[in-house]
Amino acid sequence: MNTQPKASHFIGGAFVEDTRGAAFDSIHPATGAVIARLHEATPDILSRSLEAACDAQAAWAALAPVERGRILHRAAMILRARNHDLSVLETLDTGKPLQETLVADAASGADAFEYFAGFAPTVTGQTIPLGRDMAYTLREPLGVCAGIGAWNYPIQIACWKAAPALAFGNAMVFKPSELTPLSALALAEILHEAGLPAGVFNVVQGRGAVGAGLASDARVAKVSLTGSVPTGRKVYTAAAQGMRAVTMELGGKSPLIIFDDADVENAVSAAILGNFYSAGQICSNGTRVFVHQRIKAEFLDRLAARTRQIRLGDPLDPQTQMGPLVSEEQMNKVLRHIARGLDAGARLVCGGARHGTSGCFVQPTVFADVRDDMALAQQEIFGPVMSVLDFTDETEVIARANATEYGLAAGVFTRDLARAHRVAGAMQAGTVWVNAYNLTPVEMPFGGVKASGIGRENGHAALEHYTRIKSVYLGLGDVDAPY
Ligand code: NDP
Repeated sequence: MNTQPKASHFIGGAFVEDTRGAAFDSIHPATGAVIARLHEATPDILSRSLEAACDAQAAWAALAPVERGRILHRAAMILRARNHDLSVLETLDTGKPLQETLVADAASGADAFEYFAGFAPTVTGQTIPLGRDMAYTLREPLGVCAGIGAWNYPIQIACWKAAPALAFGNAMVFKPSELTPLSALALAEILHEAGLPAGVFNVVQGRGAVGAGLASDARVAKVSLTGSVPTGRKVYTAAAQGMRAVTMELGGKSPLIIFDDADVENAVSAAILGNFYSAGQICSNGTRVFVHQRIKAEFLDRLAARTRQIRLGDPLDPQTQMGPLVSEEQMNKVLRHIARGLDAGARLVCGGARHGTSGCFVQPTVFADVRDDMALAQQEIFGPVMSVLDFTDETEVIARANATEYGLAAGVFTRDLARAHRVAGAMQAGTVWVNAYNLTPVEMPFGGVKASGIGRENGHAALEHYTRIKSVYLGLGDVDAPY
């Protein structure tokens, strides 16, 4: 596969290159091979992308919603038709196994375009009777939205932002992570093949400074970031200066609570999926697994047995279940977290080291006897490291689960229906899964509370974050003036 894109950026419906921007390589983390060389956006490129978006937005917004939907629906069909090639591209860029990218990345992006293509024509306002007079509301697009993506689900993140933004009449400039720059360009091409007018969706490349340029530009009405909490704080601050709207999809340290009446095998499945899928590089992962003391031994036995069977290797091999981490830097960071966990006295159940000597692979790692005050239980690791903590009492575990600055997600495993609802209600989290974990269908709003974020992606909730309300008051009689 030729992974070198035609140019670094996609602006005004065409690939654009500007070699004055600093060069950077995209690297396949399983082998270290350079798969593409690109250039960061210069201030000129950034400005051109925003101009293109500004120029295109009004005409796009003026189309009937059903026409916008038709184009986005065609894009979804092309995404599905090219799913295999897009999945290989994503696997090369991220290192995630093909087994995952074939079902979870471009396919989830296509879901988003289908959903919002159908949603757009259903959006209406209100009529508000006021006695003699009346008012009505209009849902308007915000204008030009900036999307800034993380490296773990590059095309999915681009689609989850572009689909609602475009469906409701906005234009977008999207900046992928510099570690995974390729699939957003493929998406831009597909959208234009589907009939999207030039300038409605643009891609610029670069590191944080390019994202910061977008977040602080007066032409941008809204910034949607998927990234870490420290970056979120910076972007939110920059956006606040211009009173720009934000959606912040940030990190987490989510609790997964397993009661003693749970189906242990299912709970182990959820803990494995919720810690090792995408080599643990998922924001909503349930990395603090609270297990009731009565079932702890059985749970750990099954967990260790099943974790040891996970097949690591070449992510392009369809048999491979876990690939490398996205970069050497991320691998080293995860290995440092593991070393710190060992120093703090957590009990290593399995894994705990680099896998092999080449590529950015880390063994799936389970720590038991983790205490709440250990760094393992407090910091987002973003790698295949699970911490198992003990508990005995429902009230106690709810308090401990909530005792974190994060609030992205939570999970509860129990056969007791009343307890399931009680605990779900008590969790300080944007999403709670009951007897399931990490399922994020496009129909369901997704996002965090506390430091994990602001706003929601997907579902009907996305409407609130990509439109604004205009109220129109209709005076239907004489003006009653006191002067
Ligand atoms: P980062 O926060 O490092 O980066 C996110 C994006 O922001 C990247 O495109 C990055 O560019 C860019 N960026 C960095 N600095 C700035 C800045 N000052 N202004 C504007 N943009 C900037 O996150 P990672 O890419 O490392 O992704 C991992 C994080 O993302 C984890 O914390 C994870 O939990 C979170 N995440 C959250 C999700 C959610 O939905 N809640 C989903 C997926 C991940 P560059 O990379 O080129 O430096």
